[in-house]
Amino acid sequence: MTTIGFIGLGMMGQPMAHLLHAAGHALVIRDAVPAATARFAQEHAGVAVASGAADFAGCSVVFTMLPDSRIVDAVVGELAPHLPPGACIIDMSSADPNRTRALAGLLGERGIGLLDAPVSGGVKRAIAGTLSIMVGGDADLLAQHLPLLQRMGQAITHVGPVGAGHALKALNNYVSAAALIATAEAIHAGAAFGIAPATIVDVINASTGKNNTTENKAHQFMLNGSFNSGFSLALQAKDVGIALSLGQAMHTPMALAEQVSAMAAEASRSLGPAADHTELYRYVAPA
Ligand code: NAD
Repeated sequence: MTTIGFIGLGMMGQPMAHLLHAAGHALVIRDAVPAATARFAQEHAGVAVASGAADFAGCSVVFTMLPDSRIVDAVVGELAPHLPPGACIIDMSSADPNRTRALAGLLGERGIGLLDAPVSGGVKRAIAGTLSIMVGGDADLLAQHLPLLQRMGQAITHVGPVGAGHALKALNNYVSAAALIATAEAIHAGAAFGIAPATIVDVINASTGKNNTTENKAHQFMLNGSFNSGFSLALQAKDVGIALSLGQAMHTPMALAEQVSAMAAEASRSLGPAADHTELYRYVAPA
Protein backbone atom coordinates (compact mmCIF):
# COMPACT_ATOMS: atom_id res chain seq x y z
CA MET A 1 0.00 0.00 0.00
CA THR A 2 1.17 3.54 -0.79
CA THR A 3 2.33 5.81 2.04
CA ILE A 4 0.13 8.87 1.85
CA GLY A 5 0.70 12.33 3.25
CA PHE A 6 -2.35 14.27 4.43
CA ILE A 7 -2.08 17.92 5.47
CA GLY A 8 -5.04 19.77 6.97
CA LEU A 9 -7.12 17.74 9.42
CA GLY A 10 -10.00 20.15 9.87
CA MET A 11 -13.76 19.62 9.48
CA MET A 12 -13.30 17.98 6.08
CA GLY A 13 -9.75 16.64 6.23
CA GLN A 14 -10.38 14.45 9.27
CA PRO A 15 -13.14 12.29 7.80
CA MET A 16 -11.37 12.12 4.43
CA ALA A 17 -8.08 10.98 5.97
CA HIS A 18 -10.05 8.52 8.08
CA LEU A 19 -11.37 6.81 4.92
CA LEU A 20 -7.85 6.49 3.46
CA HIS A 21 -6.66 4.94 6.72
CA ALA A 22 -9.66 2.60 6.77
CA ALA A 23 -8.63 1.42 3.27
CA GLY A 24 -5.32 0.24 4.74
CA HIS A 25 -2.96 3.03 3.68
CA ALA A 26 -0.07 4.19 5.83
CA LEU A 27 -0.56 7.88 6.62
CA VAL A 28 1.77 10.75 7.53
CA ILE A 29 -0.32 13.67 8.77
CA ARG A 30 0.19 17.35 9.59
CA ASP A 31 -1.92 20.26 10.80
CA ALA A 32 -1.14 23.70 12.21
CA VAL A 33 -3.14 22.71 15.31
CA PRO A 34 -1.21 19.96 17.17
CA ALA A 35 -4.36 18.80 19.00
CA ALA A 36 -5.96 17.89 15.64
CA THR A 37 -3.15 15.53 14.61
CA ALA A 38 -2.72 14.16 18.15
CA ARG A 39 -6.41 13.23 18.33
CA PHE A 40 -6.37 11.64 14.87
CA ALA A 41 -3.23 9.62 15.63
CA GLN A 42 -4.72 8.44 18.91
CA GLU A 43 -7.83 7.19 17.12
CA HIS A 44 -5.97 5.66 14.12
CA ALA A 45 -3.30 3.05 14.83
CA GLY A 46 -0.02 3.38 12.93
CA VAL A 47 -0.50 6.95 11.73
CA ALA A 48 2.68 9.07 11.86
CA VAL A 49 2.46 12.71 12.90
CA ALA A 50 4.99 14.78 10.91
CA SER A 51 7.14 17.20 12.82
CA GLY A 52 8.34 18.90 9.63
CA ALA A 53 8.17 18.81 5.84
CA ALA A 54 11.07 16.32 5.65
CA ASP A 55 8.83 13.67 7.22
CA PHE A 56 6.89 13.46 3.93
CA ALA A 57 9.98 12.33 1.96
CA GLY A 58 8.65 8.76 1.75
CA CYS A 59 5.25 9.78 0.37
CA SER A 60 4.52 9.35 -3.33
CA VAL A 61 1.28 11.26 -2.91
CA VAL A 62 0.34 14.07 -0.53
CA PHE A 63 -3.20 15.39 -0.06
CA THR A 64 -3.81 18.93 1.10
CA MET A 65 -7.15 20.04 2.60
CA LEU A 66 -6.37 23.59 3.67
CA PRO A 67 -8.35 26.84 3.95
CA ASP A 68 -7.07 28.76 0.90
CA SER A 69 -4.40 29.27 -1.75
CA ARG A 70 -2.19 31.45 0.45
CA ILE A 71 -1.81 28.55 2.89
CA VAL A 72 -1.60 25.88 0.17
CA ASP A 73 1.22 27.79 -1.55
CA ALA A 74 3.16 28.14 1.72
CA VAL A 75 2.69 24.52 2.79
CA VAL A 76 3.43 23.01 -0.63
CA GLY A 77 6.39 25.36 -1.15
CA GLU A 78 7.93 24.02 2.05
CA LEU A 79 7.09 20.44 1.13
CA ALA A 80 8.28 20.30 -2.48
CA PRO A 81 12.06 20.11 -1.91
CA HIS A 82 11.54 16.98 0.20
CA LEU A 83 9.37 15.01 -2.23
CA PRO A 84 10.83 12.52 -4.72
CA PRO A 85 10.49 13.30 -8.46
CA GLY A 86 7.34 11.61 -9.74
CA ALA A 87 5.45 12.40 -6.56
CA CYS A 88 2.00 13.95 -6.81
CA ILE A 89 0.25 16.57 -4.71
CA ILE A 90 -3.54 16.42 -4.73
CA ASP A 91 -4.97 19.68 -3.49
CA MET A 92 -8.54 19.06 -2.35
CA SER A 93 -8.88 22.53 -0.80
CA SER A 94 -11.12 25.12 -2.44
CA ALA A 95 -8.49 27.44 -3.86
CA ASP A 96 -7.77 30.11 -6.45
CA PRO A 97 -7.36 28.52 -9.93
CA ASN A 98 -4.78 31.05 -11.14
CA ARG A 99 -2.57 30.45 -8.12
CA THR A 100 -3.05 26.71 -8.65
CA ARG A 101 -1.74 27.00 -12.22
CA ALA A 102 1.28 28.95 -11.02
CA LEU A 103 1.93 26.35 -8.33
CA ALA A 104 1.69 23.52 -10.88
CA GLY A 105 4.36 25.28 -12.97
CA LEU A 106 6.74 25.51 -10.01
CA LEU A 107 6.15 21.88 -9.04
CA GLY A 108 6.57 20.73 -12.64
CA GLU A 109 10.12 22.13 -12.63
CA ARG A 110 10.86 19.62 -9.86
CA GLY A 111 9.12 16.73 -11.61
CA ILE A 112 6.24 16.79 -9.14
CA GLY A 113 2.66 16.53 -10.40
CA LEU A 114 -0.33 18.51 -9.16
CA LEU A 115 -4.01 17.68 -9.36
CA ASP A 116 -6.59 20.13 -8.06
CA ALA A 117 -9.43 18.01 -6.72
CA PRO A 118 -11.79 20.18 -4.66
CA VAL A 119 -14.90 18.64 -3.22
CA SER A 120 -18.55 19.41 -2.67
CA GLY A 121 -21.03 17.84 -0.31
CA GLY A 122 -19.97 19.06 3.11
CA VAL A 123 -18.98 17.23 6.26
CA LYS A 124 -21.84 14.73 6.04
CA ARG A 125 -20.79 13.44 2.63
CA ALA A 126 -17.10 13.58 3.61
CA ILE A 127 -17.93 11.16 6.44
CA ALA A 128 -19.94 8.92 4.10
CA GLY A 129 -17.24 8.98 1.38
CA THR A 130 -19.76 10.25 -1.16
CA LEU A 131 -18.28 13.65 -2.02
CA SER A 132 -18.50 15.16 -5.46
CA ILE A 133 -14.89 15.65 -6.61
CA MET A 134 -14.02 17.89 -9.57
CA VAL A 135 -10.53 17.34 -10.86
CA GLY A 136 -8.22 19.56 -12.87
CA GLY A 137 -4.93 18.28 -14.26
CA ASP A 138 -3.36 15.60 -16.39
CA ALA A 139 -5.75 12.74 -17.25
CA ASP A 140 -3.09 10.03 -16.79
CA LEU A 141 -2.13 11.42 -13.38
CA LEU A 142 -5.79 11.33 -12.41
CA ALA A 143 -6.19 7.74 -13.67
CA GLN A 144 -3.18 6.76 -11.54
CA HIS A 145 -4.70 8.24 -8.37
CA LEU A 146 -8.38 7.55 -9.04
CA PRO A 147 -8.61 4.62 -6.59
CA LEU A 148 -7.56 6.93 -3.74
CA LEU A 149 -10.12 9.56 -4.73
CA GLN A 150 -12.78 6.85 -4.95
CA ARG A 151 -12.31 6.22 -1.24
CA MET A 152 -13.53 9.76 -0.56
CA GLY A 153 -15.98 10.50 -3.33
CA GLN A 154 -18.59 9.07 -5.65
CA ALA A 155 -19.05 11.55 -8.48
CA ILE A 156 -15.48 12.13 -9.65
CA THR A 157 -15.25 14.24 -12.79
CA HIS A 158 -12.22 15.28 -14.79
CA VAL A 159 -13.19 18.85 -15.66
CA GLY A 160 -10.11 20.09 -17.53
CA PRO A 161 -6.45 21.09 -17.17
CA VAL A 162 -4.88 22.04 -13.86
CA GLY A 163 -6.87 24.80 -12.14
CA ALA A 164 -10.17 23.82 -13.76
CA GLY A 165 -11.30 21.92 -10.67
CA HIS A 166 -10.71 24.95 -8.46
CA ALA A 167 -12.46 27.21 -10.98
CA LEU A 168 -15.55 25.01 -11.11
CA LYS A 169 -15.64 24.59 -7.35
CA ALA A 170 -15.69 28.38 -6.82
CA LEU A 171 -18.45 28.72 -9.41
CA ASN A 172 -20.47 25.96 -7.73
CA ASN A 173 -20.16 27.67 -4.37
CA TYR A 174 -21.26 30.97 -5.88
CA VAL A 175 -24.43 29.31 -7.20
CA SER A 176 -24.96 27.61 -3.85
CA ALA A 177 -24.48 30.86 -1.90
CA ALA A 178 -26.85 32.76 -4.19
CA ALA A 179 -29.50 30.09 -3.65
CA LEU A 180 -28.97 30.15 0.11
CA ILE A 181 -29.42 33.92 0.30
CA ALA A 182 -32.45 33.84 -2.00
CA THR A 183 -33.99 31.07 0.11
CA ALA A 184 -33.33 32.92 3.38
CA GLU A 185 -34.88 36.12 2.00
CA ALA A 186 -37.92 34.20 0.73
CA ILE A 187 -38.46 32.49 4.10
CA HIS A 188 -38.31 35.82 5.97
CA ALA A 189 -40.66 37.54 3.51
CA GLY A 190 -43.15 34.64 3.58
CA ALA A 191 -43.02 34.44 7.38
CA ALA A 192 -43.69 38.19 7.65
CA PHE A 193 -46.77 37.57 5.48
CA GLY A 194 -47.92 34.90 7.94
CA ILE A 195 -46.81 31.62 6.33
CA ALA A 196 -44.95 29.16 8.57
CA PRO A 197 -41.23 28.90 7.63
CA ALA A 198 -41.37 25.09 7.54
CA THR A 199 -44.32 25.26 5.13
CA ILE A 200 -42.40 27.66 2.89
CA VAL A 201 -39.44 25.27 2.72
CA ASP A 202 -41.59 22.18 2.16
CA VAL A 203 -43.65 23.79 -0.60
CA ILE A 204 -40.53 25.11 -2.38
CA ASN A 205 -39.14 21.57 -2.19
CA ALA A 206 -42.20 20.34 -4.06
CA SER A 207 -41.88 23.21 -6.55
CA THR A 208 -39.43 24.79 -8.98
CA GLY A 209 -37.47 26.82 -6.40
CA LYS A 210 -36.02 23.64 -4.87
CA ASN A 211 -32.28 23.85 -4.16
CA ASN A 212 -29.68 22.45 -1.78
CA THR A 213 -30.61 24.97 0.93
CA THR A 214 -34.32 24.06 0.85
CA GLU A 215 -33.57 20.34 0.55
CA ASN A 216 -30.84 20.01 3.14
CA LYS A 217 -29.78 23.10 5.03
CA ALA A 218 -33.02 24.90 5.93
CA HIS A 219 -34.50 22.27 8.26
CA GLN A 220 -31.18 20.90 9.54
CA PHE A 221 -29.27 24.08 10.29
CA MET A 222 -31.36 27.23 9.80
CA LEU A 223 -34.97 26.99 11.01
CA ASN A 224 -33.92 25.20 14.22
CA GLY A 225 -31.22 27.82 14.92
CA SER A 226 -28.41 25.24 15.20
CA PHE A 227 -26.22 26.85 12.47
CA ASN A 228 -23.73 23.98 12.72
CA SER A 229 -23.23 22.72 9.15
CA GLY A 230 -19.43 22.63 9.58
CA PHE A 231 -18.75 25.00 6.65
CA SER A 232 -17.72 28.44 7.80
CA LEU A 233 -19.06 31.69 6.42
CA ALA A 234 -15.48 32.93 5.99
CA LEU A 235 -14.67 30.01 3.67
CA GLN A 236 -17.88 30.53 1.71
CA ALA A 237 -17.11 34.25 1.31
CA LYS A 238 -13.63 33.30 0.05
CA ASP A 239 -15.13 30.96 -2.56
CA VAL A 240 -17.65 33.49 -3.88
CA GLY A 241 -14.82 36.04 -4.10
CA ILE A 242 -12.81 33.60 -6.21
CA ALA A 243 -15.79 33.04 -8.53
CA LEU A 244 -16.26 36.79 -8.94
CA SER A 245 -12.57 37.34 -9.69
CA LEU A 246 -12.73 34.56 -12.25
CA GLY A 247 -15.70 36.16 -14.01
CA GLN A 248 -13.96 39.53 -13.99
CA ALA A 249 -10.73 38.07 -15.37
CA MET A 250 -12.71 36.30 -18.12
CA HIS A 251 -14.71 39.49 -18.87
CA THR A 252 -18.01 37.69 -18.32
CA PRO A 253 -20.65 39.78 -16.56
CA MET A 254 -21.48 38.54 -13.05
CA ALA A 255 -23.73 41.25 -11.63
CA LEU A 256 -25.38 38.92 -9.13
CA ALA A 257 -22.02 37.50 -8.00
CA GLU A 258 -20.93 41.04 -7.10
CA GLN A 259 -23.88 41.34 -4.73
CA VAL A 260 -23.55 37.83 -3.30
CA SER A 261 -19.82 38.31 -2.74
CA ALA A 262 -20.31 41.68 -1.03
CA MET A 263 -23.08 40.26 1.19
CA ALA A 264 -21.10 37.17 2.19
CA ALA A 265 -17.97 39.22 2.92
CA GLU A 266 -19.90 41.80 4.95
CA ALA A 267 -21.78 39.08 6.87
CA SER A 268 -18.50 37.31 7.62
CA ARG A 269 -16.96 40.55 8.95
CA SER A 270 -20.06 41.27 11.00
CA LEU A 271 -20.64 37.76 12.45
CA GLY A 272 -16.96 36.93 13.01
CA PRO A 273 -14.59 34.11 11.99
CA ALA A 274 -16.45 31.39 13.91
CA ALA A 275 -19.74 31.94 12.04
CA ASP A 276 -21.23 29.07 10.04
CA HIS A 277 -22.31 29.91 6.49
CA THR A 278 -25.93 29.00 7.33
CA GLU A 279 -25.93 32.05 9.65
CA LEU A 280 -26.56 34.11 6.53
CA TYR A 281 -30.17 33.15 7.34
CA ARG A 282 -30.14 35.27 10.48
CA TYR A 283 -27.93 37.93 8.87
CA VAL A 284 -30.62 38.71 6.27
CA ALA A 285 -33.47 38.52 8.84
CA PRO A 286 -35.58 41.63 9.32
CA ALA A 287 -34.33 43.77 12.25
P1 NAD B 1 -11.12 23.84 8.54
O1 NAD B 1 -10.78 25.24 8.89
O2 NAD B 1 -12.01 23.06 9.44
O3 NAD B 1 -9.77 22.98 8.32
C1 NAD B 1 -8.60 23.50 7.80
C2 NAD B 1 -7.45 22.87 8.55
O4 NAD B 1 -6.21 23.35 7.99
C3 NAD B 1 -7.44 23.23 10.04
O5 NAD B 1 -7.37 22.06 10.82
C4 NAD B 1 -6.20 24.10 10.18
O6 NAD B 1 -5.57 24.00 11.45
C5 NAD B 1 -5.32 23.55 9.07
N1 NAD B 1 -4.26 24.49 8.68
C6 NAD B 1 -4.36 25.82 8.48
N2 NAD B 1 -3.15 26.33 8.15
C7 NAD B 1 -2.29 25.28 8.12
C8 NAD B 1 -0.90 25.15 7.84
N3 NAD B 1 -0.15 26.22 7.52
N4 NAD B 1 -0.33 23.93 7.92
C9 NAD B 1 -1.08 22.83 8.26
N5 NAD B 1 -2.40 22.90 8.55
C10 NAD B 1 -2.99 24.10 8.47
O7 NAD B 1 -11.71 23.90 7.06
P2 NAD B 1 -12.59 22.80 6.33
O8 NAD B 1 -14.02 23.14 6.53
O9 NAD B 1 -12.08 21.45 6.65
O10 NAD B 1 -12.26 23.17 4.82
C11 NAD B 1 -11.03 22.82 4.19
C12 NAD B 1 -11.10 23.22 2.73
O11 NAD B 1 -12.20 22.52 2.11
C13 NAD B 1 -11.38 24.70 2.50
O12 NAD B 1 -10.69 25.14 1.37
C14 NAD B 1 -12.90 24.77 2.31
O13 NAD B 1 -13.28 25.90 1.56
C15 NAD B 1 -13.15 23.45 1.59
N6 NAD B 1 -14.48 22.84 1.77
C16 NAD B 1 -15.10 22.82 2.98
C17 NAD B 1 -16.35 22.20 3.10
C18 NAD B 1 -17.10 22.14 4.41
O14 NAD B 1 -18.29 21.78 4.41
N7 NAD B 1 -16.49 22.42 5.56
C19 NAD B 1 -16.94 21.60 1.99
C20 NAD B 1 -16.25 21.61 0.78
C21 NAD B 1 -15.01 22.23 0.66
